[in-house]
Amino acid sequence: MPSYDLLIKGGRVIDAANGVDGLMDVGVSGRSIGAVEPDIPESQGRRVVDATGMYVTPGLIDIHAHCTGWAGSMFPEEMCFPYGVTTMVDCGGAGWRTFDDFNTNVVRKSAVRVFALLNIVGQGMEGDVEQNTEDMDAELTAAKIRQRSDVLVGVKVAHYQGRGWESIDRGIEAARLSNSFVLVDQNSKPTRTFDELLKRLGPGDGVTHCYGYGKPMIGNDGKVKRHYIDARKRGVKFDVGHGNNSFSFSMAVPALEQNFPPDTISTDMHRSSLHTSRAQMTEVMSKFLAMGMPIGEVVARSTWEPAKMINHTELGTLTPGAPADISVLEFQDRPAGLSDSGPTGYRIMKAQGRLINQLTIKDGTVRFDYDGLSKDDWSDTPTTDLDLP
Ligand SMILES: [Zn+2]
Repeated sequence: MPSYDLLIKGGRVIDAANGVDGLMDVGVSGRSIGAVEPDIPESQGRRVVDATGMYVTPGLIDIHAHCTGWAGSMFPEEMCFPYGVTTMVDCGGAGWRTFDDFNTNVVRKSAVRVFALLNIVGQGMEGDVEQNTEDMDAELTAAKIRQRSDVLVGVKVAHYQGRGWESIDRGIEAARLSNSFVLVDQNSKPTRTFDELLKRLGPGDGVTHCYGYGKPMIGNDGKVKRHYIDARKRGVKFDVGHGNNSFSFSMAVPALEQNFPPDTISTDMHRSSLHTSRAQMTEVMSKFLAMGMPIGEVVARSTWEPAKMINHTELGTLTPGAPADISVLEFQDRPAGLSDSGPTGYRIMKAQGRLINQLTIKDGTVRFDYDGLSKDDWSDTPTTDLDLP
């Protein structure tokens, strides 16, 4: 009798949590990882996937995507499974007033594992309501996070156009009251400088769209600004949140050259970032590969680092016993043009190739299989009586 329901053989396994990077086989038992070992015999798998020449990674975790709250959001399955993502974090689409509907209509219906950051605005991310300081209640936001800690992992602050600190300070307060973290998307203003913003954040808090032009990390001298370096030393996290307006190679390239990589790689996925800037997870990862980041780091920042940030370290790893969330990625070796986004004008970086997702497994179930690696050949179709009346 085979020991494993699914056996993925011959791939290069990258599991940062366990310091694994090498040729290994992965056995899946039911909904869990059974084993990660060199050379598990084929006879041990009820179904065998040949992953020769491919990367086998924990299911990707997209810590910044949108599946509720505004017109561009997408249902989790369509923006996650095709690109190797098994866990996503909705980034502030819902506030404490709208969370329950979101939970009923999206989270519970989705086969993707969905966590969420709760918007500091009670009404969530729905246009003008984000400007309503009256609806930024730290205590009610924190209470909802504590009540629904199965889904809610932190606080989101974004898009407040006012001059002051209302959204940021209340977001920080809600994070402290709920023992979670805040992720901030607020552009720099003369009355609300980025230097001061970063000083207000604590260890584990983060800034998203970190290579966007609205939060210039690089100064006119081409150097990473001192307050970014100081914030990172204090444990503040920097998230990509690529999106359709928030990722520029002209910011990211010098940052990486000066050893200022992102902590987490994420998409800010919604309809326009998918289509205009090709911000799907594998493509955003490809952009970091093209800038010279080693594949092991690219994968770690798309799996284990986000798992730690959302305090779900049972995910983002292939540790035996962990949920069997697995992605099989392939480097498609043909010239690629990889697009950035936003005010720098949607320019491309030419690259040797790009990562594509071949196989997405969530809780042991194959959810996406690009080339049918887990499927039988059509010639094995069983005969059946086709002479129907
Ligand atoms: Zn976003």
